[in-house]
Amino acid sequence: MSPRGPRERAIYADHAATTPMREEARQAMLPFLGPEFGNPSSLHSHGRRVAAALDEARECVASALGCEFGEVIFTSSGTESANLAILGLALANPDPRRNRVILGAAEHHCVIETRGLLERLGYRVEFAEVDRWARVDLEALEPRLAEDVLLVAAMQANNEFGTVQEVAPIAERAHEAGATFFCDAVQSFGKVIFTASSLGADLLAISAHKVGGPKGAAALYVRAGVRLQPLTVGGGQERELRAGTPNVAGIVGFAAAIRSFASSAPLSDAARSARDAFVRRLLEARPDGLRFTTDHGPSVLPGFCHLRFEGVAAESVLVVLDQLGVSAGAGAACSSGSLEPSHVMQAAGLTSAESKEGLRFSFGHSNSEQDGVEAAARLVEAIATVRRAARHSGRL
Ligand code: PLP
Repeated sequence: MSPRGPRERAIYADHAATTPMREEARQAMLPFLGPEFGNPSSLHSHGRRVAAALDEARECVASALGCEFGEVIFTSSGTESANLAILGLALANPDPRRNRVILGAAEHHCVIETRGLLERLGYRVEFAEVDRWARVDLEALEPRLAEDVLLVAAMQANNEFGTVQEVAPIAERAHEAGATFFCDAVQSFGKVIFTASSLGADLLAISAHKVGGPKGAAALYVRAGVRLQPLTVGGGQERELRAGTPNVAGIVGFAAAIRSFASSAPLSDAARSARDAFVRRLLEARPDGLRFTTDHGPSVLPGFCHLRFEGVAAESVLVVLDQLGVSAGAGAACSSGSLEPSHVMQAAGLTSAESKEGLRFSFGHSNSEQDGVEAAARLVEAIATVRRAARHSGRL
């Protein structure tokens, strides 16, 4: 079953985990991996040239987010941006009466896992209920909001289901209670049109490697006036919010990826046609036990399809799919490979057993419609193989 011949061409359908780097990003980075090696904090010409490139990249990110130059803080990852937003706010909080933090129950692990540290800092952490598409239930959230809430966190697009939620009303309710609002826009950036202020975000995270940029570069929008305590201290870089010499090549590549998708066909066109062809083909084939988690309309990211097969563990399917030349995911990249049920699926009301069955296909700018058709055919084949193996071993 190893990939062979043109039929077995490799298909990458895991763009939610990471994306192939755009050529424009790679080209833009090269000088900063070679002759332009200066430290942007240095006063000499080597440093000044690199500092100018960093300024240009910050201008580009600020323009993409519709914010001011000084409101963009570069970090190393979406994870670091979310950690800095949540923990930095908690550490800087001058008001001991604001001692509750509300996180959406289906947020990425980089948000959910701040709970332990928040509790050690004396905060009470609560999880906001979500609906069956993993969107925060506004009615259930409202009674939780009061003057003792420091922060509300809600993501724009869920990284497992791909569902896009209206975050502006959540931000509005948070603000009415005097709380700060953090939005994780790591999955939606480049796929959904927004600005930091259209979402009502006080703090917002994006990451380069999800949009055709390199790994190791990301940004946090910090609205002017919001106070954070840095999590790294030292040289005072990034407006004293993130000490450490920045990854200039990565940041320049991030900006180049943004310019490239902003000036070419919408990032979503290729993704949508591959995903739609994938779904159509599956509906024609009707493999046994197929359950789509969401529909594939406008409230779901264009390249996403989340589904499961009743009674079939996601891991077994992913292994066979890989042998058939298809790379897909089971949820958050960092939790793939473990048998833990998905916390997103559980929060959305699926049972613990069902939450081990979730498969995520995320198509992107590197895919074609034919990829969608092929991926569906190979998925049907993979399911048949897994079911056959289970019957032989007496598990079905
Ligand atoms: N938030 C969401 C919604 C994500 O999908 C991811 C990555 O999968 C992250 C945060 C973390 O981003 P990074 O991989 O840059 O740390």
